[in-house]
Amino acid sequence: MKNKIKNKFMLIPVLTAVLSLVALIFFTYSHRSTDYKSYVIFLNDVSSKKVSTVYLTNTSKIRVKLSDGKIYETDNPRTSDFKEVMLKDGVTVSEDLPVDIGQVLPLTTLVLSIAAIAFMGIKSSSITSKRMRSVDALDASVVADTKYNFESVAGNEEAKESMNDLVDFLKNPEKYTQYGARMPKGVILYGEPGTGKTLLAKAVAGEAGVPFYAVSGSDFIQVYVGVGASRIRQLFKKARSNGKAVIFIDEIDAIGKKRDGGKNTGGSDERDQTLNALLTEMSGFNEKEGIIVMAATNRLDMLDPALLRPGRFDRHIEVNLPDVSAREKILNLHLKNKPVGSINVKEWAHKTSYFSGAKLESLTNEAAILACKDNSENIEDIHLDQAFSIVLAGYEKKNRDHIKDIDKKITAYHEIGHALVSLKVLPEEKVSKVTIIPSTKGAGGYTLSIPKDNLYQNKNYLKKRIMVLLGGRAAEEIIFGADYITTGAHNDLKQSTKISFNMITQYGMGDTLGLLNMQELLELNLNQDEVIKECKDMIDSMYEDVKTLLVSERHNLEKLTNLLLEKETLYSEDLNL
Ligand code: ADP
Ligand code: ZN
Repeated sequence: MKNKIKNKFMLIPVLTAVLSLVALIFFTYSHRSTDYKSYVIFLNDVSSKKVSTVYLTNTSKIRVKLSDGKIYETDNPRTSDFKEVMLKDGVTVSEDLPVDIGQVLPLTTLVLSIAAIAFMGIKSSSITSKRMRSVDALDASVVADTKYNFESVAGNEEAKESMNDLVDFLKNPEKYTQYGARMPKGVILYGEPGTGKTLLAKAVAGEAGVPFYAVSGSDFIQVYVGVGASRIRQLFKKARSNGKAVIFIDEIDAIGKKRDGGKNTGGSDERDQTLNALLTEMSGFNEKEGIIVMAATNRLDMLDPALLRPGRFDRHIEVNLPDVSAREKILNLHLKNKPVGSINVKEWAHKTSYFSGAKLESLTNEAAILACKDNSENIEDIHLDQAFSIVLAGYEKKNRDHIKDIDKKITAYHEIGHALVSLKVLPEEKVSKVTIIPSTKGAGGYTLSIPKDNLYQNKNYLKKRIMVLLGGRAAEEIIFGADYITTGAHNDLKQSTKISFNMITQYGMGDTLGLLNMQELLELNLNQDEVIKECKDMIDSMYEDVKTLLVSERHNLEKLTNLLLEKETLYSEDLNL
């Protein structure tokens, strides 16, 4: 787009250049045929005072301009007093050639447009070369300010603890080298998205007061071949030019994914080059320099072992989802500079199990936005309540007139199916919200329950989770008949399949494999049909149980569904059986 515009502008000087060249040729040619008149006629013209100017040059012909503007040539008499004679006759004598507009104008435009073309050419080539350079130099965002420190990170105490000595090392690397201690050059932070890995890396840079260079692994891959590697080199060059630094590579798995044994596809060549460049750069600087490369990934086990060897990313720090007390700290941190009403933060910390730091941040932010929209003086519980649903399920669709009654009814039975099974089989989990208001994330409705914050999930619990997931479909089938079940259970079935598969293949909770782990067995080329059959049997039998349960609870199913249809959203206090 930008290029096209530039080309358009380039067209103007090119056109004028061509036009003026044509004009120049035309005029020069036509000048050759300037009228010739004999010297006698010229003298006649002089005596009859018709001549205004004579252009006296050192050529065989001289040019004559009459008072009426006409120009002709005549012979140069080459007499020594010619000029004097003319002057006496009142004729202006010019010893320069006449300024011929017809020639000068195209000549000037020609020169000007050539200059313009040259200028534009230089400029555009400097644009491209600039772009090329920035492709190479990579727009690593440098955050040199010390806005972040460990106080910006709530919870994550273990991670912060193990980063303390990194900070110390960055502050005085010489101290460590004196002791012959080898500090890590590379640190990998791993854990779920939004748990604060980037934040921790920024905090390390902030605490140590060194510049922070952030890039993402994926930036290196979606470029032309060879560019990834050169970007890596540029990045390190840039960081080193500043002395100490923290280089942060988000999504390191984009470049450092395990190579799948020999099956080299075209794209992975580029990745290998990039990875090798990274490894070379990392072994290239020595400890005294005070550069630390921090990389983040969701999954450590996906990384190429080459990355994890000593002298590379040899320190691995897990960044966990926050527990209740960490959640409370994170909530407090993000509510600190917001007007807060009578909110019980402890309670909200309890309600937000499995929330990441990023989700908690967005919870407080959404609540602040809602309070602002309400012109409420403070953020209150009601804002957090709405924000909670927004964070979990996306914004409520405002325009829901188009939803047909029958669809509403199906959704209502489906959601009450989930809620009822949950209330019955998992009474310790609070069902906090059931709604048939669709969310922009695509769900027709949803049921939120607050899971217990447990370290482990036992077999019994997992089975009950599956039952809750199946409750929606079971209710549909009971009420509308087996032929009228809908696609609404798509996600529930995906999740229940995943749980049962993991139970049988990962957690040693099934019969086919017993305590064997599927991943290990796969290398033995095991027949998977039996596992699939067991998964299916497991789900099938639980589905029957769920149907039996719901049939016996039909009264409550109907009662709650009608209530939901009426109120559209039910909260835990509405769900008394
Ligand atoms: P990650 O890199 O692990 O995906 P980020 O560091 O980008 O996560 O976290 C995103 C945002 O979430 C942070 O900018 C911060 O506002 C918030 N956040 C995450 N974890 C924490 C935490 N432990 N303390 C405070 N805020 C956090
Ligand atoms: Zn469902």
